Order: sequence, then structure tokens, then C-alpha cells
Amino acid sequence: MQDFDVVVVGGGPAGYPTAIRAAQNGLKVACIDAWQNRDGTYAFGGTCLNAGCIPSKALLESSELWHRAHSEFAVHGIKASGLTLDLAAMQKRRAGIVKYMTGGIASLLKAAGVTAIFGRGKLLAGRVVEVTAPDKSRQLLRGKHVVLASGSIPTELKSLPFDGKQIIDSWGALELSVVPKRLCVIGAGVIGLELGSVWRRLGAEVVVLEALDALLPMADAQLATEAARHFKKLGLDVRLGAKVSAAKPGKDGVSVRYSDAKGEQTLTADVVVVAVGRRPYTEGLLGEGSGVTLDERGFIKVDDHCATAVANVWAVGDAVRGPMLAHKGKEEGVAVADRVAGKYAHMNYALIPSVIYTAPEIAWVGQSEAQAKAAGVAVKIGVFPFAASGRARAMEGSAGFVKVVVSQSSDELLGVHIIGPMAGELIAEAVLAMEFRGSAEDLQRTIHAHPTLSEALHEAALAADKRAIDNINR
Ligand code: NAD
Repeated sequence: MQDFDVVVVGGGPAGYPTAIRAAQNGLKVACIDAWQNRDGTYAFGGTCLNAGCIPSKALLESSELWHRAHSEFAVHGIKASGLTLDLAAMQKRRAGIVKYMTGGIASLLKAAGVTAIFGRGKLLAGRVVEVTAPDKSRQLLRGKHVVLASGSIPTELKSLPFDGKQIIDSWGALELSVVPKRLCVIGAGVIGLELGSVWRRLGAEVVVLEALDALLPMADAQLATEAARHFKKLGLDVRLGAKVSAAKPGKDGVSVRYSDAKGEQTLTADVVVVAVGRRPYTEGLLGEGSGVTLDERGFIKVDDHCATAVANVWAVGDAVRGPMLAHKGKEEGVAVADRVAGKYAHMNYALIPSVIYTAPEIAWVGQSEAQAKAAGVAVKIGVFPFAASGRARAMEGSAGFVKVVVSQSSDELLGVHIIGPMAGELIAEAVLAMEFRGSAEDLQRTIHAHPTLSEALHEAALAADKRAIDNINR
């Protein structure tokens, strides 16, 4: 039995920051991870680095460049002919980035003095974690504190079980070695739209089947409407209200049965990507007598501070309630690592930014116009289109807008919604302003460099008081 101050189970974007911050706080820390890649290697970084955020961003970037080379270069006066797609090279780059970044996590853990162990952790009674190594050998670690950060896995549909070839999850969809002629994506959520965009840009015919009647219901309605327009322009065939009932793989592809407002439908696709959400990953995590319980949806039960019902056992990230986002898990982990060291920590769940890495990019923080109104708040709205931004025009990125939702009585910023170039970067200013409970006037009085995309946020804040300078519809 080895003793530690903190044992972290899981080395993904929630677990590894927990371990590093705990070590920074002078504690003796172990971090265990069982992630195994398809080539058999073990790696830290979890889904985000190995099979999610990072590889998808690599392919989104590559495929966007390919798309722009065809659709946009000529506008810049660049005549490109004979362009060919080397998917193997594109995938090699993606794999290289993943390898570099996951290797980086191992180095970060080492530099922080964290004992990093590859193996599967199981919590037993008394904050003892049994670790089974890849060679099946076992060791016991005891923590004064244990932090569970076991993450999530793709939800499987009973009617479409994964076969790893024709019916695949998001990880499989990142590692395709040929561009499918016909791709069907089940679920128009974040993963479905991002991966659908990648393969559409690379030439696949893409149909996205979404059970709900609305696209992106969690986003501000104006943003969702604008996004739908751009997906259509890209050629993503998003079918709403489409409930999938069965699929049959065959020699000519997978036959997918679904029903929509028009009745029973069938389509055939070479590859089907199931992206209907993710569920907490807790299989084999909780041993007899651990005392930690799950809620009715399978999430590890925690309070507002990520404490489980067992003293000094905590849980963070995708395995607990709240949005399944790497940055949410990271901040929860850091907060727990500070709490166990006796420091003050706070996590503001109301201001977790959301980003969808499509083109144009989509990002928001805080309340949508409808949410604010439903809460009975009188709001003023400011919108600024990127079409009126010189920088966006110069970038050939004039689609989309910034929208601010502001309290009429207090002028406080309640929500910021962006669709357009670098939306995921621009939203950070809004998060910061709102973290300080900033007002529209605060943004109005903040000097934004010219010409930058960030001026669009400045102008949207001005537009909330009908004082925009650069837009005739002020
Ligand atoms: P999601 O919950 O975002 O979307 C799943 C979609 O599938 C929903 O719209 C749902 O209505 C639909 N659906 C469910 N069952 C269906 C069925 N039988 N037929 C048709 N449609 C069906 O889930 P996701 O896209 O799989 O992503 C999983 C998690 O990963 C999310 O929490 C997401 O936030 C996170 N993620 C985030 C990012 C990002 O921040 N950019 C990227 C990827 C994943």
C-alpha cells in the first residue's frame, strides 16, 4: 500500500489539472489513467486530447483550409488548380498533434512531481484505490483525498450498436482513412455538426438526422437560425424531427430507418456516425463498500462543491452533473485541489462558455434572449453584424453577428452570443466582463483595437443603447 495526500482517478482534462494543482499546493499526488489508444499505447489526456476536442480541431482546421482553397482562394486572387486531397497526410498530422499534446500532459505531471500511473483505478472502502496495470498486476494506493475524474463515453443506440466499421462513434469518425461517399450522422448536437462539417467539406454527402424539431435548442434562437442557414449553404442535409428506429448494415451500405413528419423513411449510407450524446463512464470504478453513489442518470452524486457523500472523496468533470465540457471539468478539478489544500475555491457555473467549432464558429455565455425574458427580466438587445466589420471583411469572414442581452434596469450584461469568425476566442472577453458583473456601458467604454474582430462586441454593446457607430441599423 502506498500513501498519498491525493489520488486522482482519471488523467483527462478534469483529472490532470486536479493533480497538477494539488501538487502545486505542496501535496503528494498520484494520477491514474487507463486510456488505451487503438495502436495499443497508453496515454494521458482522456477523450479531449486523444479522441475529442484536439483531434477534431485538427481535422476541422485541415478540412476548412481544403474547403476555402476551393471556395475562397479565387476571391483573393489566388488561382489554385490541381488541388488534391492527401487524407493520409491529413490524418498523420492529426495523430501527430494528439501524440505531441498527450506526451505534453505526461511531461507536465512529471514536472509537477505527480506520480503518474497507467492502469485502471477502482475505489474501495477507506479511500483505497486498487490499480490494475496493463499487465494485470495490482497495487493499492491510499489517499487522504480521492478525486474521481473518470469522464464519459459515447451513448450507444440499441437500434444501432457500434460495429467499429460502418456504425461508429465520434472517435471512429475522426480516424476514417477514406472519405465516405454517403455519411449519415445521427444527432445534430455539437459532435454531429462538427464531424458532419469535417466530412462534408472533404466531399462526403452528409445527412444529419436529429430527433428534435429544433436545431441547437440550447443556443439563442437568432444564433441557431443563422447557423442553420450556413449548414445548408455548406450542403449539410440536416433533417429535423427524424427519429431513427433501426439500421441494417449490408454490402451496399447501412440502411437506416427513421420516421419524421412525412412518415417512415429509409436512407442508405456507407458510414453511420452515432452522436446522440455521451454518458458518464463509471464501469468498474466503484468497488464494494466505496460508499459513493450514482444518480438515476448514472452520474456520480456530488454536492455544489464536487464532494461525494463519502468524506474526502470528490468527483469532477463529465462524470458529474453539469455540461460535459473540458473547461468545466478543468475548473472543477482545480477548485477541488484548492479545497483539499484548505484554500478558498469557487466555480461559477452560470458563466461556462459554450463553443461549437463549425464555420462560422458559434459561441455563447450566459442567458439567451428567450431565457432572460422567461425569467421575467426586461432586456435590451444589441446586435452587430460582422458584415460591417472591416477586419472580418478583410478576412473574408463577414458572415454572422454578435448579440448582447442586457438588463434594461441595471445595464448588466446577461448573455453574449456570437456566430462568426473566431467566435470561440471572442467570447472570452464577454466571460470576463460578465465575471466582473460588467454592464453594457463597461464594454462601451473599453477601447478595442482597430481593426479587430473584437470591435464587433464593442459595437454590439453600443447597439444595445442604439449608439453603434459602424452600423446604419444602430
Ligand atoms: P449532444 O447532447 O450535444 O447532442 C446529441 C443530439 O442527438 C441531440 O440534439 C439529441 O436530440 C439527438 N438525438 C438523441 N437521440 C437521437 C436519435 N435516436 N435520433 C436522432 N437524434 C437523436 O451530444 P453530442 O453531440 O454527442 O456531444 C456529447 C457531449 O460532448 C456534449 O455534452 C457536448 O457538449 C460535448 N462536446 C462538446 C464539444 C464542444 O464544446 N465544442 C464538442 C464535442 C462534444
